[in-house]
Amino acid sequence: MDEFPTYPSGLRLTGRRVVMVGGGHVAQRRVPQLIAVGADVHVVSPEVTPAIEGMAGAGEVTWHRRGFEDADLDGTWYVIAATDDDAVNEQVSASAESRRIFCVRSDDATRATAWTPAVGRHDGVTVGVLSQREPRRSAAVRDEILESLREGTLAARHQRDRTPGVVLVGGGPGHPDLISVAGRKALMDADVVVADRLAPRELLGDLPADIELIDVAKLPRGRSALQEEINRVIVERALAGKQVVRFKGGDNFVFGRGYEEVIACREAGVPVTVIPGLTSPVAVPAVAGIPVTHRGVAHEFTVISGHLPPGHPESLTNWSAVAAQTGTVVLMMAVENAPAIAAALMAGGRPASTPVAVVCDGTMPGERTVLATLEELETALVENGVRPPAIIVVGEVVAVAHPTAFS
Ligand code: SAH
Repeated sequence: MDEFPTYPSGLRLTGRRVVMVGGGHVAQRRVPQLIAVGADVHVVSPEVTPAIEGMAGAGEVTWHRRGFEDADLDGTWYVIAATDDDAVNEQVSASAESRRIFCVRSDDATRATAWTPAVGRHDGVTVGVLSQREPRRSAAVRDEILESLREGTLAARHQRDRTPGVVLVGGGPGHPDLISVAGRKALMDADVVVADRLAPRELLGDLPADIELIDVAKLPRGRSALQEEINRVIVERALAGKQVVRFKGGDNFVFGRGYEEVIACREAGVPVTVIPGLTSPVAVPAVAGIPVTHRGVAHEFTVISGHLPPGHPESLTNWSAVAAQTGTVVLMMAVENAPAIAAALMAGGRPASTPVAVVCDGTMPGERTVLATLEELETALVENGVRPPAIIVVGEVVAVAHPTAFS
């Protein structure tokens, strides 16, 4: 038997007066949730944390800068006693009891008339968990439920959003944890997933068995080019009433031809939405411990596709302008052309001693970083057998991360 039986209820506090007595860390945690549901929040406390002071300054709460008075509970629906003075909490509690206002107490739950559950929200569902005064257990159960909802392992699939259309989902640089919550949900809700080679493969293993998985590398290439075939497949499945996820590594709009797919969908009248991903030119250096900007070191970073060498007739990059800058240069798809690019940067004025980091298989089990200077880059790539995918970071930020290697 529960020692303290509780009756759960979802309070609709929008526009209703709620009093928070106390302005410390408990208030700081609870007040934002009350603001989020639109409650008319009054904080009563001689002192408050800077965060609460900010909320008062922004007009999100009313701060009464003094001690508690019984009259504070006039017209109040709900009160939280969260001071570090037991006598004050007791007074709030007694005053609330006589007015029949439910009162939460942060000091002694056994004397409170209401308990705050561990709360989480996912896609229109609010999860609240109460236990027998074991807050850590409540939080752990809440976390498990939310995680299962997000992953789709808790069988709520029948309520999923089944609007036909195409969702471009950026999967992040490779590690399965680096996709966004929205991206993960879209994957689990899909009828069809069209995945690239660089899309985080581990996430595909978690897909429900009834999802159709199309590996782009295995698409037939007849008279049409691969991209045209991809456009055709996503449009065709969406027109057949399916929810299609186009799943790529990083972000679909960063050297990912994602916008060509948007155009193809629009032309076919297929609804298309975009869920951005952590893009590798920023995320891969970050995970490898290299900042792309640093105060006093780099005031810009330039991301460039190195799939064409400098001077190539189809190149759209002004390499001498890039060389004239002083900030960070991040090169993608550049392993093959790296020697020519290094030469162009040095010819345009970058010192031969400029530090370079080559991060291979970033965020994945085989991740490794090769350090060099611009002058030595070609040799370092050969000696270390560097292969794509790799991100090449050029600039003083590399020395910030690896001071001893470049002293
Ligand atoms: N849309 C992707 C980039 C596609 S272009 C994004 O936003 O990240 C492919 C290039 O991205 C590769 O040649 C490599 O330069 C880089 N890249 C992507 N993932 C990488 C990883 N995990 N490690 C190193 N480089 C990566």
